[in-house]
Amino acid sequence: MTDLTGRVALVTGGTRGIGLATVRALVDAGATVVLTGRDESRAKEAAASAGAAAGLALDVTDAKAVSSLVRSVAKEHGKLDVVVANAGIMEDALLGMIKEDVVDTTLSTNVAGTLHTVQAAARAMMRKKTGAIVVLASIVGEYGSAGQTVYAASKAAVANIAKSAAKELGRSGIRVNAVAPGVIETDLTAGLSEDAKAENTGKTPLGRLGRAEDVANAIRFLVSDEASFITGQVLGVDGGLVL
Ligand code: NDP
Repeated sequence: MTDLTGRVALVTGGTRGIGLATVRALVDAGATVVLTGRDESRAKEAAASAGAAAGLALDVTDAKAVSSLVRSVAKEHGKLDVVVANAGIMEDALLGMIKEDVVDTTLSTNVAGTLHTVQAAARAMMRKKTGAIVVLASIVGEYGSAGQTVYAASKAAVANIAKSAAKELGRSGIRVNAVAPGVIETDLTAGLSEDAKAENTGKTPLGRLGRAEDVANAIRFLVSDEASFITGQVLGVDGGLVL
């Protein structure tokens, strides 16, 4: 199994779903993990349930708060080796029905929130000239999705954040990759109808929807030394859905 003993990791949006599964995967591999969520008591509860070092309140849309939290985690633990910019939201709307507040919240959470997290992570990792960052893209960011134009656009931007940051940070020893999950059963997709689930399962060569752990395992690989020559990649975790 991947060994992350001695590594310090931060996972945003670690209170549930893919984020919480990632916290568990990193803790299992020996890392000291701090998770965040918008609500402090939910974050603390999640941290206790997953064996994380701390659960802290953070809204990733707040650039100053992200910067100061990342700095204080790195200070408290002496360094920051791994950051997973996982926090994200999804709201569906057909083109003609898209409301401006959905555009604002989606872009400020998924795009600006990821950017703030990657910026702060890079600053914290720069001193030691080593680190691994993973951001959460989506298959819809590459292939599009009817009724999800805003979300899909935000995830296309997230994939590009990984590629551009990887180019910029490689010489500083910092790797940046994205995972692009397919349909993963979490709160985010809980609203999918049984028909939609069956349709997606039918289109998936591996014959099932994804589990949060499927994505967490890919993230754990990407932040580990086993992926030490991998950067700027967008790794699909979708059971072959896009084939
Ligand atoms: P969930 O809805 O289950 O969890 C989302 C997490 O993000 C929660 O921990 C939530 O914390 C946190 N969060 C949301 N908004 C903010 C914010 N403004 N500031 C800080 N934290 C926030 O989603 P998933 O686990 O399914 O998704 C995780 C990531 O994976 C997202 O980026 C999503 O877009 C992406 N993804 C998911 C797919 C899927 O099929 N599930 C497919 C492709 C990509 P809290 O509510 O406690 O604040």
